[in-house]
Amino acid sequence: MSKEAEPFDDSSEDHVLFALDAGVMDITLADIEVAAEADDELKQVAEALVDDTWPTELRKYESQKKHLHSIGSMICKDEKIVLPSSLRRRAMESAHGGHIGEVAMKRIMREFFWWPRMASETERFVKECQTCCMLSRKNAPVPISSRDLPDGPWDIIQMDFLSIPGYGSGDFLTVVDTYSRYLSVVEMRRKTAEATNAALCGIFKTWGCPRVLQSDNGPPFSSTTFCSFWENKGVAVRKSIPLSPQSNGLIERQNQSLIKAVSASTIDGSNWRYSLEQFVHSHNTLIPHARLRVTPFELLVGFKYRGQFPSLWNEWNPKELDRESIRELDAEAKLYSKHYADSARGAKESNIKVGDVVLISQQKKSKSDPTFSAERFTVITRTGAKVVIMSSNGVQYARNVQDVKLAPPVEDIDDSQKGTRVSVCERDLGPDSERTAWSRGEWMGNDAKDLERRESRRPFGSRVRLDDDGKI
Ligand SMILES: [Zn+2]
Repeated sequence: MSKEAEPFDDSSEDHVLFALDAGVMDITLADIEVAAEADDELKQVAEALVDDTWPTELRKYESQKKHLHSIGSMICKDEKIVLPSSLRRRAMESAHGGHIGEVAMKRIMREFFWWPRMASETERFVKECQTCCMLSRKNAPVPISSRDLPDGPWDIIQMDFLSIPGYGSGDFLTVVDTYSRYLSVVEMRRKTAEATNAALCGIFKTWGCPRVLQSDNGPPFSSTTFCSFWENKGVAVRKSIPLSPQSNGLIERQNQSLIKAVSASTIDGSNWRYSLEQFVHSHNTLIPHARLRVTPFELLVGFKYRGQFPSLWNEWNPKELDRESIRELDAEAKLYSKHYADSARGAKESNIKVGDVVLISQQKKSKSDPTFSAERFTVITRTGAKVVIMSSNGVQYARNVQDVKLAPPVEDIDDSQKGTRVSVCERDLGPDSERTAWSRGEWMGNDAKDLERRESRRPFGSRVRLDDDGKI
């Protein structure tokens, strides 16, 4: 039966009592009566209702005076109780039991109570619930940075490891020139820094060293052996933001084509090494960029590749490659794909800044696991999409800004206002052992996989697809 259909009867205290007893509230009528007696503001309201003289500080009540009336020490607004301020927090804690959402919680509150600005206080209460914050949805990704577009060939080289189990050693080093998209793939027996250096030297023997080597923070790339080897040669070693495959997007996109080429050889019954070789060769020398209309080979060396098919172009008077217009086209193409990717991903600028206290996104083992950590971190630096955060015990981590979320303010209220269920938001933070695992950083690898898996579902991406075990 709908309550609105029932005309409210002033004398019917039972009606209110019934609603409270049957409802979800942890507050009794006696509690309210006692609290109302001690509430100076409500006492003033009661007086104002009698002599209809309203001091300015009671304006919020005055505007509702037609609906207000006293029942004993209590003030009611129509059939709702005007809750004494000392009980408001307790009521919100009860109504938020089970961490129900803001809209439903407001509905419950409105059903039983009224006080000035109850709705906004309820909203704030939910926003400040750390548990709800931890369980909230992931942030929208931040727009892709279009800084650092390379100015010419062999300037910035991106590299990565690709795992294709079942083919040779199963580990491949992929190396791409970010300007021309010229691709090299090397099968790796070991993924050590020494083996990686040797493989890169093999490639650079032909083309010379690039200005910048860019990679993720994987073990061989972050090792001293690797970094100092290249820095000694004058090559800058740059890390893309960890856990953010999209900042390494070029290689990620290539990987799927490589996996397809290798897998196709199994179906075709051909040698997979030959198939891989053929794919890389065609990619570099035969397939022009959709927008730039030039092959990676031509962009890199300035002349067309000869040898695959008979050609009629004038070999002795080649048209000079118009690098300037190519650069413009390239910038345009990259901006276009940035805009496209940003809108497809629902990208949103993040307002996280230095000094903010944040929670960080964590791997969910099951659907009910929190999206964000319980542990709080402080933002030390922010450069574009990259933030460096520090835990309370001084350990620093680099993260993509989309994986951190502003932490709700720490509850700082008078204990007397806390009800019996005040621990509801602290209780659910997980066992200490979990937090220790967090501070040890054991979750980092899985987190990366989780992110990669999410990335692979994005409409614009053609990333490596991972199954639920995180394997390719
Ligand atoms: Zn909550």
